[in-house]
Amino acid sequence: MVTILLARHLSRSGVLRPARAGPRGRRAVIPCAAMTGLTGLTGVITDEERAAFRATLRRFVDRELMPGVEAWEEAAEFPVDLYLRAGELGLLGIGFPEEYGGSPGDSITTIHLCEEIARTGSGGLIAGLFSHGIGLPPVLNLGSEAQKRRFIPEVLAGRKISALAISEPSGGSDVANLKTTARLDGDHYVVHGAKMFITSGMRADLVTVAVRTGPAGLGGISLLVVEAGTPGFTRTPLKKMGWWCSDTAALYFDECRVPAENLLGEENAGFLGIMQNFNR
Ligand SMILES: Cc1cc2nc3c(=O)[nH]c(=O)nc-3n(C[C@H](O)[C@H](O)[C@H](O)COP(=O)(O)OP(=O)(O)OC[C@H]3O[C@@H](n4cnc5c(N)ncnc54)[C@H](O)[C@@H]3O)c2cc1C
Repeated sequence: MVTILLARHLSRSGVLRPARAGPRGRRAVIPCAAMTGLTGLTGVITDEERAAFRATLRRFVDRELMPGVEAWEEAAEFPVDLYLRAGELGLLGIGFPEEYGGSPGDSITTIHLCEEIARTGSGGLIAGLFSHGIGLPPVLNLGSEAQKRRFIPEVLAGRKISALAISEPSGGSDVANLKTTARLDGDHYVVHGAKMFITSGMRADLVTVAVRTGPAGLGGISLLVVEAGTPGFTRTPLKKMGWWCSDTAALYFDECRVPAENLLGEENAGFLGIMQNFNR
């Protein structure tokens, strides 16, 4: 049903003109699985609905992404309003449960979404606009009901931006040995350390941050949601060779006090949440 509504909405708002190829000379590198909250079938979709979704999605890409993408790449950012627009159309919610503002989707819907948006030729646009696809699953998989209701709907509506911060200046591959620490002090965690190459890092309102709360190795890692404006949390933008219009940043936590209620799941059990993200 949501897909039909989305299709109708897109039909009304889209313009009918032929698709054109993505900008020449730019290769789209598409983080496909990371674009949605898909962890399985979240709704039953008929072939007719699927075709309608794809056709209307195509019109959205032609009308609202194609005209701006070259300029956004050169400017090294795309308009923040695009999150709102994508949220309004239901694109950010695909694969997330409807009770948190999501839309039904399956793996084929995700492939259609990837294929249509890939026509912009901009991997950076996709990485940035869909950074919640890696930022929110730990909230969905590990978070309490209260945390899900507090964090997920605003992001799927495009009113807030979500990011995931795992990698650090000392390395990103070796997740089990990450160094950013968080110690419990009363009803807050005090976070200290840095994160590197974080997509949507400058603009994110909510950052799902991996921290060390326990012993060395994978059994000492927790996930905390750090909100923009938290004292001790600062960030600087990074330039890149590609993905130009994607906001990429280094994040710094200097004795940053994060409410303990922002811990996702059990303390020292965050590694599994990170791996669930990577294995989708
Ligand atoms: C544009 C961009 C956006 C990104 N967005 C995010 C984000 O949103 N959130 C986030 O957390 N991270 C993000 N990253 C970071 C990304 O996840 C890391 O770059 C990646 O995990 C690799 O880490 P690294 O760059 O520190 O390389 P390293 O971990 O230092 O690895 C360097 C090289 O050594 C190899 N290597 C490492 N360990 C071994 C080993 N044991 N055996 C053999 N070879 C090994 C690696 O394959 C690699 O080739 C982003 C990176 C980029 C470039």
